[in-house]
Amino acid sequence: MERLQKIMAQAGVASRRKSEELIQAGKVKVNGKVVKELGVKVSSSDKIEVNEIQIEREEPVYFLLYKPRGVISSVNDDKGRKVVTDFFQAYKERVYPVGRLDYDTSGLILLTNDGEFANLLMHPSREIEKVYVAKIKGIPTKENLKKLEKGIRLEDGKTAPAKVKMLSFDKKKQTTIVELTIHEGRNRQVRRMFEAIGHEVVKLKRERYGMLTLGGLKAGEARELTPHEVKQMR
Ligand code: URA
Repeated sequence: MERLQKIMAQAGVASRRKSEELIQAGKVKVNGKVVKELGVKVSSSDKIEVNEIQIEREEPVYFLLYKPRGVISSVNDDKGRKVVTDFFQAYKERVYPVGRLDYDTSGLILLTNDGEFANLLMHPSREIEKVYVAKIKGIPTKENLKKLEKGIRLEDGKTAPAKVKMLSFDKKKQTTIVELTIHEGRNRQVRRMFEAIGHEVVKLKRERYGMLTLGGLKAGEARELTPHEVKQMR
């Protein structure tokens, strides 16, 4: 038995607070009857309707995928390209990605059917650290890397302070490997940050998301999060 608003949030109806508002506004029915008081508990066999529409209920599942390059972080693609949910066709639960990685970016991405968990992780106030390893063209100066560390002006505003570590460089090929740790999740943020200091990103991989790492996974492989990991990430 779980609280009604928790089940609604997990099903992706709305946040817990918004779900409570929907309940109090008389928009929610349990087994055909309007329920207005908060705190009602429901079981897996109870039928829940929100605005006359029955909500989908599934056991919450949580996966960590090592997304290969050349895969869209979405549940479908109008151009027919491979999408992250293609890796989960063997499961009956319908999962969707928590945030996005670019088509050309590889690395760690979470997928779940728990809407509340996904919203929690994506909320900017959580400031979850994401660690990226970028291969860039050229060899950046210390001053330019400092700019990334301090925060750099992009067209959608200044970035928050970041951690920057130069891992290696190839003088002959004129490429550098840099580890960048950020907690924001703006569109193409890492690529744009390097572009802003004059270096094109030629390869990008996300290695860590909060406390979660790729571990021994290979590109295209996935694993379920342990209940302990789910708890820690909440
Ligand atoms: N930053 C990027 O530029 N691309 C990603 O996929 C993720 C972060």
